[in-house]
Amino acid sequence: MTNTDTKNLSADVVIIGAGVIGCALALELARRGHKTINVDKASAAGAGSTINSCAIVRFSYSTEHGVNFAWEGGHYWANWAQYIGAEDELGLIEFHEVGQLVLTMDGDQHATRVTELWEKLDIPHEKLTVEQIAEQYPWLDLGLYGPPARPEDPDFWRESGGQLTGGVRTKNGGYVSDPQLSCHNLQRGAEAEGGEFRFNTTVSGIVQADGRVAGVELSDGSVIGAKVVVNVAGPHSSIINKMAGVYDSMNIKTAALRHEVHHVPAPPEVDFLANGVVAADNDTGIYFRPEVGNNVLIGSGDPECDVKEYVDPDNYDNAVSEAQWNAQVLRANRRIPTLGVPHEKKGIVDLYDVSDDWLPIYDRTDLDGFYVAIGTSGNQYKNAGVAGQVMADLIEAVEAGHDHDNEPLQLTGRYTGRDIDMSAYSRNREINSESSMSVHG
Ligand SMILES: Cc1cc2nc3c(=O)[nH]c(=O)nc-3n(C[C@H](O)[C@H](O)[C@H](O)COP(=O)(O)OP(=O)(O)OC[C@H]3O[C@@H](n4cnc5c(N)ncnc54)[C@H](O)[C@@H]3O)c2cc1C
Repeated sequence: MTNTDTKNLSADVVIIGAGVIGCALALELARRGHKTINVDKASAAGAGSTINSCAIVRFSYSTEHGVNFAWEGGHYWANWAQYIGAEDELGLIEFHEVGQLVLTMDGDQHATRVTELWEKLDIPHEKLTVEQIAEQYPWLDLGLYGPPARPEDPDFWRESGGQLTGGVRTKNGGYVSDPQLSCHNLQRGAEAEGGEFRFNTTVSGIVQADGRVAGVELSDGSVIGAKVVVNVAGPHSSIINKMAGVYDSMNIKTAALRHEVHHVPAPPEVDFLANGVVAADNDTGIYFRPEVGNNVLIGSGDPECDVKEYVDPDNYDNAVSEAQWNAQVLRANRRIPTLGVPHEKKGIVDLYDVSDDWLPIYDRTDLDGFYVAIGTSGNQYKNAGVAGQVMADLIEAVEAGHDHDNEPLQLTGRYTGRDIDMSAYSRNREINSESSMSVHG
């Protein structure tokens, strides 16, 4: 059911946000018999930051928890139709399992760590020599150009200083080319189980009574009553936490970080959709993947030389900038020398909801009944399914009286049967020093 009349509404759980995480949580809770209402100020599911996600499904994280969680999360995409369990008149998304290649070089701590973790956690992968990469991806230049620099810096233009050492590839990685459609699929799945969605509906306050949450107040002054409210507001998460009065009590904070992704036609001689790959390249400071229309989509690996632009999520420049277009597209040209720099800038600008250590917060808060699934830091699209599962497990356990703060929940992944230690996602954790402090998580 989708409408905007909110008089005398109530639900078991109000979910603030209908992005990929909020929709996955709705499906999970509705399937378990809870009455859910997602409220979103946008006009459709996935119209927030999810719409511009690169939607890459990869397992290359710096922490063991991160790899474990992403491996579980990847199974949802591979089993999408069964997981959604409902018809969608718009059709279901396609998961393009083209594989993920992490390029490696001497002294690259992130790639070394990823390889160790893939071995330890039994993530299917193979090591490729530079010769094998050159044979399979002949359009790649395998020279060493790093550390990443900006084109304004003369160092950017230096000649190759040697060669990469090779790469490590998992065949199970890939991407979804329509992240907004994945939210619509999740919405239809949740609706089939009784979940409701209210669009063009802005939350302006968190209602409290008897020392716990009692619902949300909307910008038209009406209230939706609920014993449980979940903040899944993406880059607006800190604003909602402030409304609830829980922002100061959390050790890990979140903030909106502006990011650009650029679209460039693939070199004409390359069928990038058929023969391309999702690639992470710490030497040049980018990642890239195939995109419909034989394009290459180029994102940033957050190299230190790039200034981080934290912004007001309701007031930021959403035009592709000349400077960042040049930086990312020229970096990509180092790796794919026949790519070129198109005259017309094409791409998107959107926001990451970055936490202090670039790892998500999936937790309760100090306000009873108020939960958060936030801090997704540019890297949790792939984990929407498992995030839905663990948040539903957590809400059910805490509402049944479990003291999660003192005895962190130990959960089990639905697909892999692997342990998920929820203390890793606590709002009160210390900053995880194993994190790459970047989109790599
Ligand atoms: C450019 C970019 C590239 C990315 N690439 C990848 C990738 O390749 N792989 C990956 O795994 N992850 C990636 N991510 C991250 C991933 O897309 C996000 O982690 C994920 O989409 C977050 O989903 P969400 O549901 O938490 O937030 P959102 O999709 O932002 O949803 C939050 C919703 O809350 C609503 N809202 C906010 N405030 C209010 C309010 N007061 N009242 C009502 N509604 C409100 C908004 O309208 C919005 O729809 C990328 C992100 C970006 C921005």
